[in-house]
Amino acid sequence: MSTSATLADRLQCRHLKTLQPYQSARRLFSGGQDWLNANESPFSNDYALDCTKLNRYPDCQPKRVINAYADYAGLNTEQLLVSRGADEGIELLIRAFCEPNQDSILICPPTYGMYAISAETFQVGVERVPLKADFSLDLEQMYQHNGKVKLVFICSPNNPTGTTVADQQIKAALEHFKDSALVVVDEAYIEFAENQGCASWLAEYPNLVILRTLSKAFALAGIRCGFTLAAPEVIQVLLKAIAPYPVPEPVAQIAAQALSADGLKQIKQQVQGLNKARTELLAALRNLPQLSVVGDVQANFVLVRASQKQALMDNLVAQGILIRDQSKQMHLQDCLRISIGNNEQNQRLVAAITAFYQQEGQ
Ligand SMILES: *Cc1c(COP(=O)(O)O)cnc(C)c1O
Repeated sequence: MSTSATLADRLQCRHLKTLQPYQSARRLFSGGQDWLNANESPFSNDYALDCTKLNRYPDCQPKRVINAYADYAGLNTEQLLVSRGADEGIELLIRAFCEPNQDSILICPPTYGMYAISAETFQVGVERVPLKADFSLDLEQMYQHNGKVKLVFICSPNNPTGTTVADQQIKAALEHFKDSALVVVDEAYIEFAENQGCASWLAEYPNLVILRTLSKAFALAGIRCGFTLAAPEVIQVLLKAIAPYPVPEPVAQIAAQALSADGLKQIKQQVQGLNKARTELLAALRNLPQLSVVGDVQANFVLVRASQKQALMDNLVAQGILIRDQSKQMHLQDCLRISIGNNEQNQRLVAAITAFYQQEGQ
């Protein structure tokens, strides 16, 4: 209608014309009371804010945050980069290592959507090697792409399957791509997993990159703070591509408090509580014959295949219980992903699903 919209349409980059914005949980639904669709923490923790420095530009890489996370991850500060969420880490890797219209990344679906979206935004190609039926890596097929991709994304624990990739498989990929690609292991959910993750392998594998975040276990999705863990040489390249002030001062203050000894103690307790709630939710869902649990539960969510998936989803949304439809992803027909909420939310969810199937007479 307006001429400015038409001008914007005419001026916008060709590759953006067909691109859809990422359908984030928050964009899909804004109402509701039980937000079990974005793998956020149900807890909101308290922080203090010192406003005396808000008139100054913040450090590009705030030392308090970098030091605290280095201690937490058992690394040196040169092996770390802090950014606006792990999502910015993904974007920086793509921008710093992939030439537009020339290079590609490799992803293993079903997996996190932002790797492909970020690549497409920067006109970088996306090669796909689906996970096997048991959600392990199809290494043989991945190796076919050696020399043709710059970044290999492995999500472990994987969103949305909740499965982890075996250490030997990640090491095999690191070996195989050691002269041609960075292997990026996305550990956004590592705090919820049995496995420790691969930060301790960094010294051994110069092509290993790890993504971490404060958005999930640390209950800080709202501050947008994530970390990239890698060899100092890789971090130096990323620092060329990052914005001058990526981490606002209030974010740095809150992140430093979350990573303090007291903060870490609290997070540990909350993760233990969520893992216990996960076990209980799983038991309740397993009682329902109309649902089957898919994948594993190494993160703060459960993936289920549901009969009458769409009617169930609509029924829950109408009651303000938001979960996430994953049925469009490869291998995940009729699958819904449910984040672990607090006990009341989990109980409301189970009661609502139970009532739905009773009423349907299934
Ligand atoms: C949530 C999520 C992220 C994004 O984390 P932010 O730090 O909030 O940007 C990255 N990877 C996976 C697999 C996720 O599920």
